[in-house]
Amino acid sequence: MEVVETIAQLRTLRQSLKGRVGLVPTMGYLHAGHVSLVAAARADNQHVVATIFVNPTQFAANEDLASYPRDMPRDLNMLQKAGVNIVFAPKAESIYPSDFQTYITVEQVSQGREGGARPGHFRGVATVVAKLFNLVQPHSAYFGQKDAQQVVVIRQMVRDLNFLLSIVVCPIVRETDGLAMSSRNVYLTPDERQSAKILHRALQIVGKLYDEGERRPQVLRQTAWDILDHEKRVQPSYVSLADARNLQEIEQPIDQPLLFSIAAQVGKPRLLDNCLLPLALNTQEGATRVLGAD
Ligand code: AMP
Repeated sequence: MEVVETIAQLRTLRQSLKGRVGLVPTMGYLHAGHVSLVAAARADNQHVVATIFVNPTQFAANEDLASYPRDMPRDLNMLQKAGVNIVFAPKAESIYPSDFQTYITVEQVSQGREGGARPGHFRGVATVVAKLFNLVQPHSAYFGQKDAQQVVVIRQMVRDLNFLLSIVVCPIVRETDGLAMSSRNVYLTPDERQSAKILHRALQIVGKLYDEGERRPQVLRQTAWDILDHEKRVQPSYVSLADARNLQEIEQPIDQPLLFSIAAQVGKPRLLDNCLLPLALNTQEGATRVLGAD
């Protein structure tokens, strides 16, 4: 495995690669969710490039950029074991030199949910992902369903700006008690960690209701609110039921694939979780087919 820090080194290495290249962008502090993206990339490609970059432009001023967890030696060890060929771990100054002034705004699908709670977040995400696509020139790029709105934003950007690659969406990897894995789970106290299980519980109950025939959007949303409200350490931020293709919030029962997503503050971290409805769509094939698709 080659580890490179500069754009020049990355470009030289990229030119030497023959065959399909898969890209796995991350912010490091890796867990089994990230490793699952690498495994999917390995299955489809001859070469896997993983990036580790805590992207400053996707953090708002009041967020945890400075304290975001980092452990480069452990990350590199995990990526090596997972079979990554090239790790690109640039310094912020290489990605954003002092005269940097070009940003990408993906308009409608960046609004609401994470975009509403974190102004400017998806502008930072779209900009850095576009740069990584240009630098790595991958045939496919791998993203987690965990950040479902991010997938929809990136897919929209890929279509709008004619990037020539496919986006693969990998299912949410969970702890044994159901909590979606996240680098930010490390911030949870033991009590908060117990309370955090309620997010997945709420999704399971809503998913079951939907699969048994409940279609009223207000009933599905309210069910989740009531479950989350029960847990005193959990402060829900939003509960969204949206068309999985374009993230339009739905008000009338429809028989389109849906994205049910929730976010809640649990102590220091904001936790996100979601499921596609019907529940059978929560696979790599199902999520890749519907989430942000044309
Ligand atoms: P991050 O390092 O948090 O920016 O995440 C890098 C990539 O890993 C993103 O595409 C995430 O959606 C994905 N990811 C994060 N957590 C999980 C998880 N629990 N299961 C699957 N993918 C994940």
